[in-house]
Amino acid sequence: NPSSLTRLDDFTWRIEPSGRMRVPGVLYANEALVGAMDDKVREQLVNVASLPGIVQAAYVMPDAHWGYGFPIGGVAAFDADRGGVVSAGGVGFDISCGVRCLHTGLKRDDLPSLQSRLADELYRHIPAGVGSRGRIHLDEAGMEAMLAGGAEWAVAPGWGRPADLERIEERGRMTDPRPEAVSDKAKRRQRDEMGTLGSGNHYLEVQEVETLHDRATAEAFGLAEGDVVVFIHCGSRGLGHQVGTEFLRAMTLAAPEHGLELPDRELACAPIRSELGQTYLGAMRAAINCALANRQILTQLTREVFAELCPSADLRLLFDVSHNTCKVEEHVIDGQPRRLYVHRKGATRAFGPGHPDLPDAYREVGQPVLIGGSMGTASHVLAGNRQAGIQAFASACHGAGRAMSRRRALKSWQGRQLIDELRGRGILVRSPSSKGVAEEAPGAYKDVDAVVDAAEAAGLARRVAWLLPRVCIKG
Ligand code: 5GP
Ligand code: MN
Ligand code: MN
Repeated sequence: NPSSLTRLDDFTWRIEPSGRMRVPGVLYANEALVGAMDDKVREQLVNVASLPGIVQAAYVMPDAHWGYGFPIGGVAAFDADRGGVVSAGGVGFDISCGVRCLHTGLKRDDLPSLQSRLADELYRHIPAGVGSRGRIHLDEAGMEAMLAGGAEWAVAPGWGRPADLERIEERGRMTDPRPEAVSDKAKRRQRDEMGTLGSGNHYLEVQEVETLHDRATAEAFGLAEGDVVVFIHCGSRGLGHQVGTEFLRAMTLAAPEHGLELPDRELACAPIRSELGQTYLGAMRAAINCALANRQILTQLTREVFAELCPSADLRLLFDVSHNTCKVEEHVIDGQPRRLYVHRKGATRAFGPGHPDLPDAYREVGQPVLIGGSMGTASHVLAGNRQAGIQAFASACHGAGRAMSRRRALKSWQGRQLIDELRGRGILVRSPSSKGVAEEAPGAYKDVDAVVDAAEAAGLARRVAWLLPRVCIKG
């Protein structure tokens, strides 16, 4: 069996290179999580390890499940000098989907009198669900500026504070975007969707910090026990999806002319040093800016709600991470620094202490890694480790990861019933779609605590804070 796993330790598994594989596959998880992962994840890991120019190994995070071509929870890096490729399927459809966490300045004791009004007002104020529209309408020039400027574009006219930008990967603006490489259709889809949450797995959540695991790092992050924080999870909406879809098709069609023999059609990719590869990278970076701008606008909408209900609240950004990206980064491979195209699909960047790209406030402790669990279980804040650079190119998990398909979840739960049950546990859920809520049932996800435990034990990141949900606005 080509995809048989060798256990290296309790949390690290390896698939030795064989057949077309150019590098090994490495999987980080405990035995139970590995056992529960479907075989497709291993198969996809083997396929990714076979792509041209891949460096070191193909990686799978403990929350992984199968995705389109690449597993969700997959990390792979490519070297342009060695024929490396960029893959639209290796980034994912929701380009730069990510999570941001906001302090609120409120404590646990402030919530009882606020909780239900917060749920109602956030739900009224934050456009959520399929086809929801935002307050902003972008004309052609506005669209170009947004795709070039990201969160910086949003902050300039008042959708946020300049200080927010320091706390966003890439300081809020992905460099080298090519707005002109984004199709008219993709732009059209986005004209009215800025500042919208989207559907399904996307959410805006009010949470309480329950337990701290690493007090020094929590302090650097500004987190204390009993703090009320907000998590926002969403991405680049229709625009990112359209970019992903179009380039996937283009890469599949162009594979023969690029001399690429793909182990699976779904692995559509193009050489980094090809026109198509460069065009995709430019369009993808523009889509990253779209996601950063989108989360920025949602942040400001959230501030408006808190300001109205609780004038003493002060919403400061803790950090913003993207978990569907391809970024050029320097990593040391066999003692040599190399520039690599790191794909993280359903994986979070987790730079360790000292990394020059971290904001000053976090440079000594490492990058905040924001992990959602589900609307009925815990979420986590982690921090990047010093040794992270050599493990999976400084990456960690991005969530609990699905344990079952949406279809199966829909057969197993009813939205209304779940909402009642969660209310009984002190969690208020508001959503335009009770079907969506059923698909997102907490039981449809893996055990986030076990996933995070595995990530920590494997050395990918360390646990900082454990949070519980109180209000969830579900797309
Ligand atoms: P994805 O980006 O792959 O769609 O989802 C990321 C992760 O978000 C999932 O693996 C899941 O663990 C988490 N998640 C999904 N829905 C919710 C929610 O309503 N609340 C929280 N806190 N996490 C969620
Ligand atoms: Mn996501
Ligand atoms: Mn998404």
